[in-house]
Amino acid sequence: MADYKPGVTAPPFHANCRCTTVPVFEDEEDFGERAAKDADGKTYYVPADTKYEDWKKAFVDGGDKAGVIKSDAVANNKLRQVPGKTSVPKEYIGNYDDFQPLTLTDNERLLLKTLGKNTLEDGFEHGAAIVSGETRFFTSGIVDRVAIPEDVGKMIDAAANRSVHLLHSHTNETLPSATDFRKLLDEKIDKVSIIAYNKDIYSASIGNGWIPTRQEFDVAVKRIAKEVDDDIFSYPGFNEWTIAERNYVGIREQAYRIARHFEWTLEGGAL
Ligand SMILES: [Zn+2]
Repeated sequence: MADYKPGVTAPPFHANCRCTTVPVFEDEEDFGERAAKDADGKTYYVPADTKYEDWKKAFVDGGDKAGVIKSDAVANNKLRQVPGKTSVPKEYIGNYDDFQPLTLTDNERLLLKTLGKNTLEDGFEHGAAIVSGETRFFTSGIVDRVAIPEDVGKMIDAAANRSVHLLHSHTNETLPSATDFRKLLDEKIDKVSIIAYNKDIYSASIGNGWIPTRQEFDVAVKRIAKEVDDDIFSYPGFNEWTIAERNYVGIREQAYRIARHFEWTLEGGAL
């Protein structure tokens, strides 16, 4: 990881589960576009298949936005659908039985609270990295992913082994995605924590669990996602759930099963 380029050696560490997992929920998960804001605050929608580098070229480096801009009317209409709608089925609200109790420090909780507050204000995901005790905040100004900026990536590369804690906010209630868990396979990163839109907090770490190769991880996650997809139809109340609720339960189940499969630690609780 000496040559740390976001989107190349360090892909956005989060895609909010959209790209990855539960096929039956795809309609809700992927609007086909991703919201973005440019420097003067105008909202654009970026086609979902836009590569990070192309996005960065167009929106951060001020390049040609042709092909990635949709009208504000479309963008504004869609943006309202993203955060804020409570979709957690009531039997899951405040239910952390599947998870271990949170062991975050007061400072880490405060940090997550701040990231969540930022998301409430602008609708975008926000991230922070605690690298050898030093905290850096970042946001990529888009709804459903947040990338590690290059300077933070360099700090991570230079950190003492396994001393990095990544934290970020979600724009919906879902738990850590497969992409979030995958960050733990970076030898520098020892913990990934998220705050969901409903202020639930989840922290994942390898602990004494297995360390698979990335390929082994991907194969296992694909199988787990399929199993969750099959099993979830038999859940009580499934037929009455909204698509957002189905998505929530699917991601929740997947996160729990990923942690259990690799014997990783998954903590959960309220802010
Ligand atoms: Zn995430």
